[in-house]
Amino acid sequence: MNLQIKGLKVKAGDSQILKGVDLKIGAGEVHVVMGPNGSGKSTLAQVIAGHPFYKISGGTISVDRKTINKLSADKRAKLGIFLGFQNPVEIPGVSVFNVLRKAGQAKGQAFSKGDSKLRPGLNLGNFRNQLLEYASSLKLSPDHISRSFNEGFSGGEKKRNEILQMLALSPKLVILDEIDSGLDVDGLKVVAQAIAKFHKKNPKSSIVLITHYARILKYLRADYVHVMIDGKIVKSGKQKLASDIEDKGYEKWQTQSL
Ligand code: ADP
Ligand code: MG
Repeated sequence: MNLQIKGLKVKAGDSQILKGVDLKIGAGEVHVVMGPNGSGKSTLAQVIAGHPFYKISGGTISVDRKTINKLSADKRAKLGIFLGFQNPVEIPGVSVFNVLRKAGQAKGQAFSKGDSKLRPGLNLGNFRNQLLEYASSLKLSPDHISRSFNEGFSGGEKKRNEILQMLALSPKLVILDEIDSGLDVDGLKVVAQAIAKFHKKNPKSSIVLITHYARILKYLRADYVHVMIDGKIVKSGKQKLASDIEDKGYEKWQTQSL
């Protein structure tokens, strides 16, 4: 999916958070967004996904040349936009399986109870088996999908659960907000390899990784790296920019923007 953001300005309440963001992502590209805490990375992610709290005060967000500024979050999800949250919410009493089944149904996947000869692969049993396979590839236990959504999950389980949703929904634009924060070395490897495998299987899907670290790029190749400071993208480059930032920090752009 192509994403084009032009001059995007966004307010949270009275404060201006995004101050003119330009970003172009081609189908199948992998982009990384880095930046200090509070620079607006999560705001950008939420606004692309259509979070109603944020007000767009200027600019446009378009996917495949269609402006989506006014589309609700569920319509954007139906178009294939997926956001893996930095801090996923808990939904007590509703299982992972049921959330994903509903999400799949809302996206137009039809499920039948029995084995359907007309639509093989789309019955509930197959869907369940598919989820179990994804869970296993993420090193989540088989009972994971029966657990209450995010309730009592460890930090690592929450992050893997975001990736499980991504795998189940096959989105066309994947935005992962700090998917690598709070994961141990093994967890990072499992998650990064799952994203890499997803990308290989869905080569036209675009991926945006918001991160503080270059280490996820050991498993995934990024086409572009962007630096966000104070609500603007101040620098874009290739993968090497990520390791430069890990070495040297953001200071040189921060002093520029003052
Ligand atoms: P980042 O993800 O880069 O750390 P955020 O997008 O979370 O940054 O936040 C950017 C700025 O916007 C911060 O100053 C934050 O306090 C403010 N902000 C974000 N969301 C809200 C909100 N819901 N209400 C008030 N301020 C917010
Ligand atoms: Mg954030």
